[in-house]
Amino acid sequence: MRVAFYSTKPYDKIYFEPLSHEYGIELHFFEVPCNEETIPLAAGHDALCIFVNDYLNERMINSIAEMGVRAVLLRSAGFNNVDIKAAAKNNIPVLRVPSYSPEAVAEYAMAMLLTVNRQTHRAYTRTRDFNMSINGFMGTDLHGKTAGVIGTGKIGQAMINILKGFGMEILAYDPYPNSALDVEYCEKEQVFERADVITLHCPLTPETKHIVQAKTIELMKNDVYLINTSRGDLIRTDDLIEGLLHKKFAGVGIDVYEEEGGVFYEDCSNEIIADENLARLMTFPNVLVTSHMGFFTREAVHAIADVTLKNADAVNRGLELVNVVKPDMSC
Ligand code: NAD
Repeated sequence: MRVAFYSTKPYDKIYFEPLSHEYGIELHFFEVPCNEETIPLAAGHDALCIFVNDYLNERMINSIAEMGVRAVLLRSAGFNNVDIKAAAKNNIPVLRVPSYSPEAVAEYAMAMLLTVNRQTHRAYTRTRDFNMSINGFMGTDLHGKTAGVIGTGKIGQAMINILKGFGMEILAYDPYPNSALDVEYCEKEQVFERADVITLHCPLTPETKHIVQAKTIELMKNDVYLINTSRGDLIRTDDLIEGLLHKKFAGVGIDVYEEEGGVFYEDCSNEIIADENLARLMTFPNVLVTSHMGFFTREAVHAIADVTLKNADAVNRGLELVNVVKPDMSC
């Protein structure tokens, strides 16, 4: 089986290559992202393997179907970047990695919260320059405060456990509440109104797009902390910037960004940044932007490689496709 592997980074090769030999799968690594321009590279392959900032729209799917591509392998849990209905119409199964390490992402969300609260990112650069002043770094105790968790699936639950370990009260919103969890579920408006910390762990769907926008920011407490490790489009960036300018937020940590495609995962340090919102976000001292790396632990990347290749092997050998994305699933 020949697989066109898009958006390859050095760490992908390290984890995927040895395992691919075990499965007898031939991976062809391309550094370029999967998009309209690069889709011809898929010719001559049985499957495509793509990541979060690659995309496959209907036109691209029709074209890979004509090339004889038999499957799409996602190296992610989310699948909002693929037209699943078009793939189903062409009988091309789309397989994902539903769960690799929810703890990796939840631990990272907590790292972002601790960073923006206690300003360790700024303290690091200050002390490296022997500026030992602590002015401007005062944070707040998390213990006893209320955390609002939007989406209580695998990552949300891992985050709840961590937040509880910090002695926080938990409010949660999920259209499918989990009665096994010891949390107070309420409407999302109430979460936004009552929480001191809001952390987003829902998928990107038409319902969750811009779940954080002017109206919901208005509901939030002053000096709220907002953490987004899910998908960039959950937050309307224009409104976030407006809220920051009005000093609504004590701290904001975003690992994902509405317009991250083509920028995140790339070294743009020698380029002129045309995205004014991204450039503006970087100017706020209480905002931490990172490059979609919540998943990035050894354990998680190993699990992504293992499950992706198991998915490929299942296609190759005609086995049951346990991780296939169904057209009626939410991302
Ligand atoms: P999951 O499917 O286990 O949980 C998602 C939860 O969101 C479910 O409980 C679902 O009912 C809930 N939900 C659905 N619609 C909702 C809505 N309108 N409002 C609130 N909640 C809603 O998924 P997961 O494994 O916990 O992952 C959550 C998200 O994290 C993924 O969709 C992905 O976007 C993101 N993610 C980010 C990274 C990263 O590196 N930063 C890594 C993995 C996943």
